[in-house]
Amino acid sequence: MLNSHLPAEFLNILKPRLPEMLAILHRFVTAESPSLEKPAADLCCGIVADEWLRCDAKVERIGQKSRGDHLRVIYADQSRPVGQLTVLGHYDTVYSVGTLAKTPFRISGGKAYGPGTFDMKAGIVQALFALQALQQTKLALRKRIVFLWTSDEEIGSESSRKLIEAEARRSDAVFVLEPSFGRRGLLKTTRKGVGEAELSVRGRASHAGLAPQEGINAVHELAAQLTRIEKWNDPRRGVSINADIIEGGTRTNVIAEQARAVLDLRALKASDMRALERRLHALRPIHKGARLDIKGGFDRPPLERKVSAALFERAKSLARQMNLRLGECTAGGGSDGNFTGALGILTLDGLGAVGDGAHSSHEHVFIKTMPSRAALLAALLADT
Ligand SMILES: [Zn+2]
Repeated sequence: MLNSHLPAEFLNILKPRLPEMLAILHRFVTAESPSLEKPAADLCCGIVADEWLRCDAKVERIGQKSRGDHLRVIYADQSRPVGQLTVLGHYDTVYSVGTLAKTPFRISGGKAYGPGTFDMKAGIVQALFALQALQQTKLALRKRIVFLWTSDEEIGSESSRKLIEAEARRSDAVFVLEPSFGRRGLLKTTRKGVGEAELSVRGRASHAGLAPQEGINAVHELAAQLTRIEKWNDPRRGVSINADIIEGGTRTNVIAEQARAVLDLRALKASDMRALERRLHALRPIHKGARLDIKGGFDRPPLERKVSAALFERAKSLARQMNLRLGECTAGGGSDGNFTGALGILTLDGLGAVGDGAHSSHEHVFIKTMPSRAALLAALLADT
């Protein structure tokens, strides 16, 4: 167990460094880094890498063809570390280049505003200063720490998933620097699994007036299927299925030959996730002659509380040593923590910034909380 003064010592080290934290946050936010614009994302990747290079850490840039490069930072203060801890986050944002001109980085009323401040560039800044605080206290770290900053979390982590899972498998615990929830900065100890499926229907076109009996109406079939599917929603179990997009048919007077729906899938438990997928793929046509095609499923499994409970208890007690009270919540959306948790690796998510307005024009972080959040991470890294 960690010396009980250490969390407070980290906080004392970090509090006066808030202006430096904000200067780096400014630098990170000014480098716009949309998931889908590689040249811009790569520039941001380089700026993030520069800050970590200053920390005496090994910085590896993992080149990507169509996405921004990923960044792996390895820090070990002894030659034979016993075990590994992974700190996980993403530097990509949902904002295309040019957003900054409309909503520039600014600090006002104790908040730092700007695209990607909260989700999750402030989290990367906090991790950077957590490492510096660890270095300053000259604590002998037993474990190697790997910081992974990826470029495509906001679009499903297709290019980074393998890397994330490989580092997680080597780790005793994974700390995810995604934003916390609400003003109290609740950690995310449970996250729903998230997926997307497409249900396509093929019918047969025919003249709606002259030969309706020869047609098979794909729109009617889809509507009937959606009525059936809607009943699968089970809010008490945290299961939801929603048709977010539908389209079908060609013109009036013609019986619709095709139709399709894009479905949003969510579940709190892995067993419910699998059951939902099975049901979806077992759908059979209701109208005679109609054909169904179902593609997709869950891409992020749920993050279940059993993988975060123990780390959360530790985080709570470390926070108490800094006179902070830490709470927890369930998030309806997924993160890369879902991947690591699904491997059975202890995972604690929502350790990043405290703020609000993710993915909106009023995105911001509460700047006063940045040093304490960084101190909490430092304490967790020292104590796990
Ligand atoms: Zn995020």
